[in-house]
Order: sequence, then C-alpha cells, then structure tokens
Amino acid sequence: MKYGLPDKRGYFGAYGGRFVPETLIEPLRRLEKLYTRMKRDPAFTNEYYSILREYAGRPTPLTFAERLTAYYGRASIFLKREDLCHTGAHKINNVVGQILLAVRSKKKRIIAETGAGQHGVATATVAARFGLQCVVYMGEEDMHRQQLNVYRMKMLGAEVIPVTSGSRTLKDATSEAIRDWVTNVNDTFYVIGSVVGPHPYPMMVRDFQAIIGKEVRKQLRTLNTGKSLYLIACVGGGSNAAGLFYPFLQSTARMYGVEAAGLGLDTDKHAATLAKGIPGVLHGSLSYVLQDDDGQIALAHSISAGLDYPGVGPEHCYLKESGRVQYHAVTDEEALKAAALLAKLEGIIPALESAHAIAFLEKLMPCTKKGECVVVNLSGRGDKDMQTFMERLTYE
Ligand SMILES: *Cc1c(COP(=O)(O)O)cnc(C)c1O
Repeated sequence: MKYGLPDKRGYFGAYGGRFVPETLIEPLRRLEKLYTRMKRDPAFTNEYYSILREYAGRPTPLTFAERLTAYYGRASIFLKREDLCHTGAHKINNVVGQILLAVRSKKKRIIAETGAGQHGVATATVAARFGLQCVVYMGEEDMHRQQLNVYRMKMLGAEVIPVTSGSRTLKDATSEAIRDWVTNVNDTFYVIGSVVGPHPYPMMVRDFQAIIGKEVRKQLRTLNTGKSLYLIACVGGGSNAAGLFYPFLQSTARMYGVEAAGLGLDTDKHAATLAKGIPGVLHGSLSYVLQDDDGQIALAHSISAGLDYPGVGPEHCYLKESGRVQYHAVTDEEALKAAALLAKLEGIIPALESAHAIAFLEKLMPCTKKGECVVVNLSGRGDKDMQTFMERLTYE
C-alpha cells in the first residue's frame, strides 16, 4: 500500500488544509509549486545534502546504548544522535531546507517564530550562513525565561522582536509572525519550525526531517539487526517524530509518539494535544488543539519548553486515528528521571524533550524481547536545560 499523503488540497485524512487570510493563499500556492519543483531538482537536493553534511554534521550516528540495553535486559536499544547536529538539535535539518527555498525564491528577508528559542537559533544560524536578514518573533515571557537563546540569536545577527500580546508565549509569537508575513509577503520568507502551519508547510518540514529516518534505515541495514523494530520519538509540534517515522510508514515497524503529560493528564497542566485536544484551527491548519470550555486556545504546560505547545501537526492526527502510530504521554517527573538515567548509564545528557522519549522505555521495554530492536530519537542535547536539571535533580 502506498501512503502518499497529504492529498492535493493539503489534507492528511480530515486534518491539515490552509486556513489563512486571503492574501496568503497565492503565496502558499507559489511556495508549493517551488517546493514540488525543487524536490525533483538534483542541484537543489545536492546542495541540501551537502550543507547538512559539511555544515550541520550529518549523518548523525546511530549509537548502541549498551548499558541501557543491559539495564532493561530485553530488546537492543539504539539512539539516533540528533543531539550531535550543529546548534544541538534536529531543527537545523528543516531550516537548511527552507532557507535554500528562500534563496531560490529570491527572498532576502527571513522571519520565524520561536518558543524556547531553539528554532529561532537554528534559523538565525542558517540565515547568517547565507547572509540573509533575519527577524525572530518571541513572546516576552519566553524571552525572560530563555535569555541565553535570545543572546545567541542577537550574536548571530538576528533581530528578536518581543511579543507582548496574549500569554506572551509561542502561540502569540506565531500569530505575530503570520501578521508580519501578510504585510511583507513579497520580500519575506516565513520559516516554520515544526510540521504545523498551512499546506505545504507540514509536508515540507516532514520531508526535510525525513533525513533522520532515511539514515536510520540505512544504518540498521548495515548493523544487520533483526526484523522486529520499534521506533520512539517525542512529539511537540511533531517534526522530529515525523522525520523518524515517515520513511518507515510502509514497513512493519511499530511506532510510538510521546507527548508531554506535564503534571499529569488529569490536571490542566500538560501539553498532550493528541490525548486531550479536540479538532480546531490553529496557525493555519485544522488539527487537534488544546482548548478551554469556551473553545479558546488553552495554555499548555511542560517542563520542556520545546513540547510546550497547545497544537500538533495534522499528520499526527491522521496517524493516530488510522492507528498506524500509537501516542502516549510522559510526565515532567518521568522525563527528569529518564534524563538522569541516560546521563549515568550512557554518558549522554539529553534535552528534556528527548528525555520524554527515553522515559517511554519504562512502558515499552517489558513488552519487547531479546533480539528485537528499539530506536529512540535523541532529538537534542541537554545543555540548554542544565538550569532546570540543577533545580530539579539533587546529587549527594
Ligand atoms: C523543538 C524541539 C522538539 C519539539 O519539536 P518537534 O517538532 O515535535 O520535533 C523536540 N526536541 C528538541 C530537542 C527540540 O528542540
């Protein structure tokens, strides 16, 4: 069976589409056309792969986690090392692709939204590399919480614009970025940071991140591992998960997306959009959204800033409803414990987002057998989270 989604209108089953102001419809059509052409253009794809290799540090290793494997005593555990990418996470894979499209469409001005600042830093980095003007929208509240990333972006030559509306976090920054794009659409390229937004963004970002899954497939072949395969990735907007899963959708691999359960799914302090959201429109597409009783966008909570988003990519809604991927949720506490465990057993301090994927091993490993193979996407490194670890984990 061929997968082949999204359809021509940009839908994954019932989800996706293009819910934007009229003035953006034509620019989105043009972007879709450009992307479709570039996807088949060897000059474009060669440049994309060459920058990922020479600048971003790809391919990333698939590391056998020997002591973690022994700890559970079941299937062999491998870590896909996106933490070793330049700027410390998978986000650069997508940003390189989109900025190459900006260059092809002769746009000189780049805008982006950012929550914790990871996507902002990746965008400012690649914009600097290509000598493009870069403007990043960031909630004022997030700017206070993530001062280091704000400074990084400035050092990379980007302008960071504080957003003071609403809750002064990611969802407000995104609304502001869309407003900027509507005003400046002729000379500006909007770089979106996850598999969200209007068509063609969810498809494009997935395709750029699919480098993760393609490399894993090749690396597993070389290792000659057994047939039974489990894939795990954390889900914020869902781009690192989509990138790992997509090349395996037509295989027999079992796949698990892990959302942030925050303080617990029975509280209102979580970011488990697939578990607890209902269909709605957020930032240009129809998807599951966390909403309050009045249908307003609810505030998400997670200890990890990258998972702290009240929406999720439309493709994950489809993959959940079709049953192809299972989605689970892991609490702040469970993620912290998993980060400590990985640091001690493997000498790797994961990003708090990635620690959610590691934490799911507690639930999955008892169901696996020796000879089977588990791949966890280690979406980023923990350097940015050291302050949180210091506050929450104590050592003698
Ligand atoms: C941003 C981020 C995420 C969440 O984004 P997705 O689009 O769901 O991948 C996960 N891990 C890290 C390290 C991040 O920086």
